[in-house]
Amino acid sequence: MAYEYDSENIFAKILRGEIPNSTVLETEHTLAFRDITPQAPEHVLVIPRGEYVCFDHFALAASDAEILDFNRTVGKICAMLGVQPGEGGGGYRLIANSGEAAVQEVPHMHVHILAGRPLGRMLNPA
Ligand code: 5GP
Repeated sequence: MAYEYDSENIFAKILRGEIPNSTVLETEHTLAFRDITPQAPEHVLVIPRGEYVCFDHFALAASDAEILDFNRTVGKICAMLGVQPGEGGGGYRLIANSGEAAVQEVPHMHVHILAGRPLGRMLNPA
């Protein structure tokens, strides 16, 4: 399947420095910043620097180094936020909306890290 990347999407602009962001952590392959409309006390978006449209695109096409860096960055942010359940934090939820059914608004692969309040069950009834 061909994934078509729109280089004018808002996260591409953030990566190019055309739009400011509240950075939490940046690494060689990954950028993490606060969501502009937080849905929980802690709401961080983690994005690869590479041009991937959605999670499956990233998982299938990114290099091992990018995938490793992305996952380590998610783990580091959970530690920075103090939300790791194994370490006495309150836990968190990862969301990767991908495509139409999931109402993905920004077509650049991202994972939401949500924490800081009880998050309820995973899905609302359709
Ligand atoms: P999606 O629905 O695509 O999974 O989520 C996109 C997220 O990007 C939303 O939670 C939205 O609040 C966030 N967002 C959209 N535009 C901006 C922006 O310019 N800056 C930041 N920091 N977040 C944004």
